[in-house]
Amino acid sequence: MDDLENLVNEAIALLSDVENVAQLEQIKVRFLGKEGELTKLLKGLGSLPQKDRPLRGNLINQAKKTVEDALDRRRKYLEEQRLQSQLEEEALDVTLPGRGLAIGGLHPVSRVLTRIESLFRSIGFSVASGPEIETDFYNFTALNIPENHPARAMHDTFYVDNGYLLRTHTSPVQIRYMKAHRPPLKVIAPGRVYRCDSDVTHTPMFHQVEGLWVDEEVSFSALKGILKDFMQNFFEREELSIRFRPSFFPFTEPSAEMDISCVMCGGKGCRVCSNTGWLEVLGCGMVHPNVLKHGGIDHEKYTGLAFGLGVERLAMLRYGVNDLRLFFENDLRFLEQFN
Ligand SMILES: [Zn+2]
Repeated sequence: MDDLENLVNEAIALLSDVENVAQLEQIKVRFLGKEGELTKLLKGLGSLPQKDRPLRGNLINQAKKTVEDALDRRRKYLEEQRLQSQLEEEALDVTLPGRGLAIGGLHPVSRVLTRIESLFRSIGFSVASGPEIETDFYNFTALNIPENHPARAMHDTFYVDNGYLLRTHTSPVQIRYMKAHRPPLKVIAPGRVYRCDSDVTHTPMFHQVEGLWVDEEVSFSALKGILKDFMQNFFEREELSIRFRPSFFPFTEPSAEMDISCVMCGGKGCRVCSNTGWLEVLGCGMVHPNVLKHGGIDHEKYTGLAFGLGVERLAMLRYGVNDLRLFFENDLRFLEQFN
């Protein structure tokens, strides 16, 4: 009996020191393999007297079973150890701070556009848009700009094939809007426009907002009131003064340029306003009867007012930017300052 018990104890002792599956397999072969010690004992049963064989065989099988169970337990234990150390090695340290995502922001020109739109919406203006590639008719003829007008020169405009061109102002939207709607009309048309210009105050592409109000008895005093309110609200300066200077545009009659008191120096005179105390901010006037006609509107019954302003110009003044080109160079150091 002792030999069996010793074998089992030896196997269990060896197994408790086993560190990996390879060692485990060696022990399995040593005790349970074809030439293993317990297998040999089973084979040796034949040499025992017939009457002793069942009992002895039973005991050897029990010993085999004990060793097999011990092997299984150790195998399971090794597997758990392996899994545990793998989890530890591959563990994520969730306490590490993240790398962070840079959050984008609105471009200053978009911010100013949104501000202009919401100010005009608040006094009943709709917002309309139109194509940036326009026909000669909508960009010039319909706006009372004759064939020989200098604005039509090749060096002032980008021409596309077949009589199309990149619009030089958003005024064509006014014509399209008049054709599609009946008065009273109150609309602004914000958008990109194009000119062959590039220096500190000009870029080949820039943004304009044009406004149009057509109704019976729309007057120049209404135009002054709207624009004064708008500028005071836009710059958040109640004390802002305005002045109008006579001017000429083919599409309005009479026409005027509007100045505001300098937002940098308050009218005292500085570099931005060339020491005049005034800043030129927009062009405006009463819609020329020919333009109303092209829009399909009875110019005997209706009058209209119109104005156009440069969005970048207002953005520069509002944010104190001194070079227009900064808006389009996509330098994050510049753009991030507005968010
Ligand atoms: Zn000034």
